Amino acid sequence: MRDRAEVVVIGAGFAGAATAYHLARRGVGDVVVLEREPVPGAHASGRNAALVRRVTDPEPVRRISAAGAAALESGELAPAARFRRIGSLLLASGERVRELECEAQACRADGIDVRRLGPREISGLVPLLSGAGHEAGFHCPSDGVVDIHSLLLAYLAGARSGGAHVLFSTPVKAIETRDGQVVAVVTGRGRIRTDRVVNAAGAWAGELAGTAGSTSVPLVPYRRHLFLTAPLAGISPDLPFVWDESNSFYFRPESGGLLLSPCDEEEHPASPPAVDPRFQELLAERLLPVLPIARELRVARAWACLRTFAPDRMPVIGPDPRVRGLFWVAGLGGHGMTASDAIGALAAARLMGEPGPGETAEFFLPERFGAPSPPTQIQEIAS
Ligand SMILES: Cc1cc2nc3c(=O)[nH]c(=O)nc-3n(C[C@H](O)[C@H](O)[C@H](O)COP(=O)(O)OP(=O)(O)OC[C@H]3O[C@@H](n4cnc5c(N)ncnc54)[C@H](O)[C@@H]3O)c2cc1C
Repeated sequence: MRDRAEVVVIGAGFAGAATAYHLARRGVGDVVVLEREPVPGAHASGRNAALVRRVTDPEPVRRISAAGAAALESGELAPAARFRRIGSLLLASGERVRELECEAQACRADGIDVRRLGPREISGLVPLLSGAGHEAGFHCPSDGVVDIHSLLLAYLAGARSGGAHVLFSTPVKAIETRDGQVVAVVTGRGRIRTDRVVNAAGAWAGELAGTAGSTSVPLVPYRRHLFLTAPLAGISPDLPFVWDESNSFYFRPESGGLLLSPCDEEEHPASPPAVDPRFQELLAERLLPVLPIARELRVARAWACLRTFAPDRMPVIGPDPRVRGLFWVAGLGGHGMTASDAIGALAAARLMGEPGPGETAEFFLPERFGAPSPPTQIQEIAS
């Protein structure tokens, strides 16, 4: 256990791992990454749907996701990401068609191929959807899926080879400050002196910042369920992932069956969420009217995890406006894996005092939440 580091990163999910990796690429190796769990990816980063989706909004999120997606496909970590270009098909009817058309146009303006499909082309591309009755589909052939565990391990291996120490089973109980400046982190295994801390604690980022007296960023975790079916006849691993924006569900091929989500979004405390069987019923309700195969689906495994959002649903990347030395890489919402490489690159640049790549970076600054609130009672996190 080191007792001093130039930078301490708290959390070894995509936010912390990608930041440490990009610090290492910049030659900053005096870094300690602290993770409470015994393994990487115990929460959102190891339990997400692995989808790389470029058609989205708002624009800054679309841009950083597209930059991240490009890196996963052809950057240094592409071999580890094992990106598979299966494409995506976003489905909609009514008002949502017009909104998706705008998002697709914005993607096309950035050189991303997005084709609008009618009902016959939709069932031609994904025969499972025959007779589903969607007004329009948007096919992005360059979208796909990655191997999230291999990618996360590659970020951490890259950080380590640049000199970083990655410690598991090491919960941070408090970030210590003196006169509004970070001076140390207090862990379950001792104290590490530092004047720069990266708060990459996912759903726990708010409570962690509270230990340093910062309440600047109002983050909210929301639970989402995923269901994996038993293998089904005729499911090709190359089927595009399908996201039905009007009926609120998505699915993709996985292990011979389908991985599905009812796109549920329920506020949840920062704690590992349990599976609620009501959401399997909700999924069935949403699937049955549009997916004839829904009656044959048998759920083999179900899990739930937290996606954490700021009120404007954009990531929070930058220095805390109140506490000097406290740096946020949090609120990654539903695109944190896709955008991870670009987020890590931006965070590392900002930590080094540079503006960072991309013209949307200023949208992510924590100071956008207005005047910082008065200091709070500082409390350690209960172990
Ligand atoms: C069901 C679901 C599906 C998703 N699907 C996709 C998808 O298809 N594509 C996509 O791009 N994104 C997806 N996401 C979003 C993506 O998973 C997240 O944006 C991303 O993983 C967030 O990474 P993170 O590092 O911020 O958080 P986390 O992965 O939660 O990592 C934070 C880490 O900090 C640690 N930590 C917390 N407090 C402390 C402490 N006090 N001391 C030490 N360590 C601490 C935690 O143990 C945790 O490991 C999905 C999310 C969910 C929940």
